[in-house]
Amino acid sequence: MRQERRFYKTGGLGVTRLASLTLHAEKLHRDDVWAAVERLAQRAAGLGARLTFFVHPFWALAAGADIATRVVRLAELGHEIGQHTHYYDARTGRVPGHKAGDLDPGNVVRRLEEDRAALERAGVPPRGFVSGAWAFPEGLAEWLAGHGFTYDCSLRTYAPPSNASGMTPAAAPHFLRDGLLEVPTTAPLRRAIGLLPGSARLGDLAYRLVYCHDDDLLDLRKRAALGYLLAILPFRGWRLVSAGEIAQCCREELMRHG
Ligand SMILES: [Zn+2]
Repeated sequence: MRQERRFYKTGGLGVTRLASLTLHAEKLHRDDVWAAVERLAQRAAGLGARLTFFVHPFWALAAGADIATRVVRLAELGHEIGQHTHYYDARTGRVPGHKAGDLDPGNVVRRLEEDRAALERAGVPPRGFVSGAWAFPEGLAEWLAGHGFTYDCSLRTYAPPSNASGMTPAAAPHFLRDGLLEVPTTAPLRRAIGLLPGSARLGDLAYRLVYCHDDDLLDLRKRAALGYLLAILPFRGWRLVSAGEIAQCCREELMRHG
């Protein structure tokens, strides 16, 4: 890994600059979304960039659709598959038009297990995770650490939206428990349109972890913004890697500096 890190060094002052474009993938069962996602995945792979897809199988399961072959296709293109979970209540997905969360510990674990089981069935056991809607429910870190996850991106380095009460921005990557690492997300795609998205710093490592949704690709401006980042970040010296690779570099940085 040391060798690889030297390879990553692109900053003039010995700073490793890594950027990750991550997609919260909730609608891969929709053919229009999938077509746009596959095009982006192919283009990124052709540029030597690894994307991270945090997949939320919930709506596909609710629609009776099987997204396994699509998820495997993304993995075969070299991209990382992580897990994304919203803690929807028991009525969501069953009662048309109803969508609400339920952070009761039993419901949280049920939703986490459902999504993880779907990804395991697809043959891509996830190691990275991000919650939906800025949630970080009690018991989440414990569940992740106990189910083979190595990092979480649910926290953000920027101010929460006004409806996310109780959340505060996270300053920097840190260990949560039992080797599970928190690698905060640094910017939503909308902040990246026309400018470079926010970054975070940890020792000799600077990173950007940008997120958007899979169906954002149906929006011409957002699709253009992603294309812009794919081109401009390497040009500015940021190597495009998966979120998992950023997490691994954060881990080494934290362990080196105790
Ligand atoms: Zn989501």
